Amino acid sequence: MFSLKLFLKLLLLTTNILLVFSDKSVSRRRPKTILILADGIRYDYLNDANLTGFGRMAQNGVRAKYVQPIFPANSYPNWYTIVTGLYGESHGMVQNYMYDPKEKDLFLMSPHPNASHPHWWNGAEPVWINAEKHGLKTGVYWWDGCQVKIRGKEPTHCLGYQSYWTWANPNEDTTNALFEILDNFEADDWHFGLVYYEAIDAMGHAFGSESKERVEAVQEFDKILTTLQDEIEKRNLQNEVNIVVVSDHGMIEIDENKNTRMINIETIVNVDDVEVMLDRGTTAFIIPKANKEAKVSFTHGHHGYDPYDVKEMRTIMYARGPGFKKNYTSGPLMMTDHYNYLCYILGIDPKPNNGTWNNVKDFTSDSGAKVAHLISFSNNSSLRLEIPIALILFSIVILGLKR
Ligand SMILES: [Zn+2]
Repeated sequence: MFSLKLFLKLLLLTTNILLVFSDKSVSRRRPKTILILADGIRYDYLNDANLTGFGRMAQNGVRAKYVQPIFPANSYPNWYTIVTGLYGESHGMVQNYMYDPKEKDLFLMSPHPNASHPHWWNGAEPVWINAEKHGLKTGVYWWDGCQVKIRGKEPTHCLGYQSYWTWANPNEDTTNALFEILDNFEADDWHFGLVYYEAIDAMGHAFGSESKERVEAVQEFDKILTTLQDEIEKRNLQNEVNIVVVSDHGMIEIDENKNTRMINIETIVNVDDVEVMLDRGTTAFIIPKANKEAKVSFTHGHHGYDPYDVKEMRTIMYARGPGFKKNYTSGPLMMTDHYNYLCYILGIDPKPNNGTWNNVKDFTSDSGAKVAHLISFSNNSSLRLEIPIALILFSIVILGLKR
């Protein structure tokens, strides 16, 4: 016998889908996202009223009180957390310098070629690969890892990492990269652009977190943000393009005469028991010789730089665009939290991750982000009206047959 219930259900579904696609508020173009990673911005660097680019971002969007990095508060571990939502133990980038005894391979930071060996990156799938797998073309500028085929895929466009110290015009090139991304957004070709920016971290290391060089570097970056927002408005893309600005860690002033606790590692570990030791400063990567594991184990020596202890390690997050509320300050975020809202505003399914949706759900705008999901549904199936029409026909056929 014909099930009236089934028929009504199908009719309801059909009507819902029709309503969604006839809704005037749904833009026909899928929202796009620019993600900028500005290295080494401490959470309190931006308490400066003259930073009008950041001020405009906050007024028209969302800012977090601060962002808590993962341990260790170093670049590579946190870069990979931003784009995967995972802790280092899960994504595998546990330090800036690493040794993998299974692969017998040293990880040394780009531009060293070892940084491009895929096994370092295959422990997780960064959001640019997830986006490409969902059919979203992605352009990546200077963000390390984009040159690597990760889990069988690469982004549509990648300009590999370039060291700040050998770079003639980083600010000009960054602005041009952002404009190139906007060109591709306007053409409805790319949907995701990622840009890495190193100057603030470089100045913080070279001259100290409180130096005028570091302050000027933040001002230069703020100008880039102003130019980007001007350009988006000039092209009338403000309701279509999200801008997200994140950073990986803060910075603490080192004064060797005052507050630095120096630990001589040889007083804790017998160097004869050590197979490999990499890096120095806040943390060192140590592999004990076989059978010496019990002797080489200690848990101190990095407390001063643990992001859970030292608030100077905290960093920032600013975002604006159709996926975000306006003039909204969110509570503190964890570095693992970026990934979920990035996937949400891109309209793609997140992979399993360590982020907490509750930490970010309040600052995403329902309308903007849902549009991405609806359009993702219609784009991925290449069907707009075909689905409801097919459902109506299907219902009629069933109705006819059962009579
Ligand atoms: Zn960094």
